[in-house]
Amino acid sequence: MIKFLDLHKINHRYEAEIRERIGAVLDSGWYLQGKQNERFSRAFADYCGVAHALGVANGLDALTLILKAYGFGEGEEIIVPANTYIASILAISQCGCMPVLVEPDLETYNIDPDLIEQRITDRTRAIMVVHLYGQAVRMERIWALADKYGLKVIEDAAQAHGAFYQGRRVGSLGDAAGFSFYPGKNLGALGDAGGITTADEALFEKIKAIANYGSDYKYHHIYKGVNSRLDEIQAGILEVKLQYLDEDNARRRQIAAFYREHIVNPQVLLPWTYAEDAHVWHVFVVRVPRRQAFQAYLEEHGIQTNIHYPTPAHRQLAYTEWAELSMPVTERIHEEVISLPISPVMSDDEAGRVVEIVNGWR
Ligand SMILES: *Cc1c(COP(=O)(O)O)cnc(C)c1O
Repeated sequence: MIKFLDLHKINHRYEAEIRERIGAVLDSGWYLQGKQNERFSRAFADYCGVAHALGVANGLDALTLILKAYGFGEGEEIIVPANTYIASILAISQCGCMPVLVEPDLETYNIDPDLIEQRITDRTRAIMVVHLYGQAVRMERIWALADKYGLKVIEDAAQAHGAFYQGRRVGSLGDAAGFSFYPGKNLGALGDAGGITTADEALFEKIKAIANYGSDYKYHHIYKGVNSRLDEIQAGILEVKLQYLDEDNARRRQIAAFYREHIVNPQVLLPWTYAEDAHVWHVFVVRVPRRQAFQAYLEEHGIQTNIHYPTPAHRQLAYTEWAELSMPVTERIHEEVISLPISPVMSDDEAGRVVEIVNGWR
């Protein structure tokens, strides 16, 4: 069986270093807001090429905290792609803002910049871009619109750690970015974890306080904050794994290139990238008619797959207010996509086997 993602194998490459970090935290007797967080946030900020990074509890909190720190709320609108993991949209709802859904384009699956301007109103405060599946959004048009209308640009970078746009890493492309370090992400912890990056020092200080009970120093509360912090153990593990992220992403690119060269089944529509370094292949998403039969066929031949995602946010019970909303491009994507196995620990043989089986599909 070729697993969709072998997390045990991924993390056991660094077993000794991970055990050492866990041991260091155990020995220190210091579990939150300590040296491991300091070291990881410094390293992650440098990696992204941005002044500040902060570890938080998870990716959803990262996005919510950014919106809260800007003070966005009731009566205000945030533009967001309709084709995303629901967390991007939930973050907006959690702040009391209205998510304004915009269709993606069928080439990159990212937000279609041509459709944004018509959705901007005098209540719009920000554009949240999502670097979906690991591919950096082409930011040029987004920046121009943000300038023209005085909007903030927030990146949901949960799937794209390390991807570049015009020589800059995601996390440095907007006013602030939210990352997830959920175990299955390109940079994953051994549990829930998330992070924020921003060049804006005032915003950074505010997010840091809000994430810590709204406190700027102990027992002094300036915001109605939340508790969303990164554990020292997870921070230590993430610092270890960050050292290998570029290597891991390079291996993902190799496998993606191999798939794109050798999968030649006319029924299987391959993903596309506008630049090699723009994509870190968090998932390798193809589109097929008769997806269910294709998935069963792969399973039968020992290949595990996944669907990112089966049901769009506007068709979820959580958002019955959108029951009448029609998003044909998004709906089509959700009906046709299927993700093939890809990971830094996948072997050439395994990738070859996937190609062979996929090409055998009729
Ligand atoms: C994983 C993910 C999130 C949420 O991250 P969590 O750490 O699971 O809360 C947000 N947005 C996108 C696009 C994601 O893939």
